[in-house]
Amino acid sequence: MRIDVITLFPEWIQQLTTLGVTGRAITDGKVELITWNPRDFTDDRHNQVDDRPYGGGPGMVMLAEPLARTLAEVQRQDQARTLVSGMSPQGRVLDQQAVRELAKRPRLILLCGRYEAIDQRLLDSCVDEQWSLGDYVISGGELAAGVVIDAVLRLQPGVLGHQQSAEQDSFSQNATTGNGLLDCPHYTRPEDWRGQTVPEILLSGNHAAIADWRRQQALLATWKTRPELLAGAVLSEKDQRLLAAALADQEA
Ligand code: SAH
Repeated sequence: MRIDVITLFPEWIQQLTTLGVTGRAITDGKVELITWNPRDFTDDRHNQVDDRPYGGGPGMVMLAEPLARTLAEVQRQDQARTLVSGMSPQGRVLDQQAVRELAKRPRLILLCGRYEAIDQRLLDSCVDEQWSLGDYVISGGELAAGVVIDAVLRLQPGVLGHQQSAEQDSFSQNATTGNGLLDCPHYTRPEDWRGQTVPEILLSGNHAAIADWRRQQALLATWKTRPELLAGAVLSEKDQRLLAAALADQEA
């Protein structure tokens, strides 16, 4: 996979190449991450990339021309005509379903905004889709692009140590949290931590019972904090029994 990021602050993105899961994926050559600075595509003395908004008002607006030139160069190196994905609070809200879709693409082109906005004409003519982290505003698209890159990379084969760990995460489609439920709780040593013990069943060695318990806990966690996810999920009869039993336990 190849990811091109257009940003005025390449340092934000570059740190992904040195740290943790994303860093390893990049060093191992599973993904190529390339940053492009629109400042390098200006030809005035001040390398200007923004200007005051027409009509007045606060903040600066990113100039269309340096971004268009940058994108032209990125696309010159791209026969496949990859979609240009802008980072924007006005975009489609990113969720695990969207991450799965993005992870299947051989190449991503991520455009990071800064300041008040990007000139609308650039968005209208060069950007194919926009992605939002959620209904709040941050100061630049770099953190949003970083989130997309991290989420997409951990789905690439061989990037996580255990192939299963991504499958077991919240919102994934699998036996434990399938149909997009939250993850079950996890425990590690010691068995007794400050008087709180690990649920007995996890020490039983009974894999079928452990799988049922995990499924039940995933259902319960989702019911408690994200009931709308449950409403959208298809639950088997067994799921319904497990959840009913967990809820009855809680009331007892
Ligand atoms: N005035 C704009 C916000 C500009 S914030 C508005 O209200 O819509 C500057 C940049 O930060 C944006 O161009 C975008 O790239 C990024 N950004 C801010 N919030 C974001 C979010 N929720 N998701 C993705 N990117 C975001």
